[in-house]
Amino acid sequence: VSSAELAGQFLDRIAALNPTLNAFITVDPEKTLAEAAAADAARAAGQAGLLTGVPLAIKDIFCQQGWKTSCGSKMLDNFIAPYDAHVIERVRAAGLVTIGRTNMDEFAMGSANENSYYGPVKNPWDLAAIPGGSSGGSAAAVAARLAPAALGTDTGGSIRQPASHCGITGIKPTYGVVSRYGMVAFASSLDQGGPMAQTAEDCALLLNTIAGFDGRDSTSLERPTEDYTRELGNSLSGLKVGLPREYFAAGLSADVARVIDEAVAQLKKLGAEVVEVSLPNTELSIPAYYVIAPAEASSNLSRYDGVRYGHRAAEYKDLVDMYEKSRAEGFGAEVKRRILVGTYVLSHGYYDAYYLKAQKIRRLIADDFKKAFEQCDVILGPVAPTAAFNIGEKSNDPVEMYLSDIYTLSVNLAGLPGMSVPAGFAANGRPIGLQIIGNYFGEAKMLNVAHQFQ
Ligand code: GLN
Repeated sequence: VSSAELAGQFLDRIAALNPTLNAFITVDPEKTLAEAAAADAARAAGQAGLLTGVPLAIKDIFCQQGWKTSCGSKMLDNFIAPYDAHVIERVRAAGLVTIGRTNMDEFAMGSANENSYYGPVKNPWDLAAIPGGSSGGSAAAVAARLAPAALGTDTGGSIRQPASHCGITGIKPTYGVVSRYGMVAFASSLDQGGPMAQTAEDCALLLNTIAGFDGRDSTSLERPTEDYTRELGNSLSGLKVGLPREYFAAGLSADVARVIDEAVAQLKKLGAEVVEVSLPNTELSIPAYYVIAPAEASSNLSRYDGVRYGHRAAEYKDLVDMYEKSRAEGFGAEVKRRILVGTYVLSHGYYDAYYLKAQKIRRLIADDFKKAFEQCDVILGPVAPTAAFNIGEKSNDPVEMYLSDIYTLSVNLAGLPGMSVPAGFAANGRPIGLQIIGNYFGEAKMLNVAHQFQ
């Protein structure tokens, strides 16, 4: 088939299913078909690469020239990006075709995709269930085959957790591997973009496209180019797999515990050796993250003042009134909660008690992983304590929602790579993923563990 036919088929499927799933915020067939025609022309001219013409769903957090980039917020509902994020430049150069822009929690704050200005996303496996968040639209789009692959971002689990709940594969790379240039900032020291697709192999190919140094992101790492597919096919014989004692303690549902046990048994059959490791500060990842992430968010979101771009209140008395009304109207409840927490923990008198303490815990968490990786090559565990819960089940209790991030946050705090790979199902039929955590720059190895497992 031609790229245009392929894009047409996915667009038809989106037209049929998106009204139910709400996975996309923006679909623009004219633009998509123009990109597909360009891909066909490149192929006809003998200039096609491996991914030329492959449709790609893009989380609405990546600036993309000429496309609305809302970040799931009313604040940016009127924002058409005037430039491309680094990862968008990369996927466009590779000839991937934008199939649409996916729904997400507002400013990527959430674990259920219920915080979007554009309404919740439904889980394609069970319409009563959340798809996970914040990259819930990307995960649902791939799971429902509205796109073969998608881009997501992960600040505290937002690629891995929706991948787990939707039965797909997603990887958060080592911090600094994928440029944050043009990615709307949430918590800059934690944010990382990454691929979501059906398989580890597809994720590896997409990661090859989007990874790499970019001088416009001051934390982008200058390293030799890697081929993330290079280990796919290697035997797992002798691979040391670490199971953190603290991940299998109270709070883990019987469904998830069973699926992870079965996954570990399968990896043993494939030749892996299992060792017990300890990550004693795991519990502290929640308070540390929910201080650091809001602190950085409160600073990053100060740019939305109604002056240069984004929502501006229709009526106001003076400049301060304009700021206040624009922000009051433009931001949703969870975003406001984070800004309040963030400004509080950074304020004079509380900085030492909260922010500084959280930074110290962050160091302890990174040290825990350092010690654990002296004993093993990869760490395995759950992604979330339960399979997807019901839409509305936790939306009135923010703390309950934050607690469900227990297995994902520490990976971001340490800057490590982590991924979710489909591993089984809960008794109610909802998917459950296995989390694989790698050492710094261990993406190729993790992807092979996932590939052998799949
Ligand atoms: N659930 C976490 C939060 O709400 C993580 C979100 C993310 O990774 N973007 O902050």
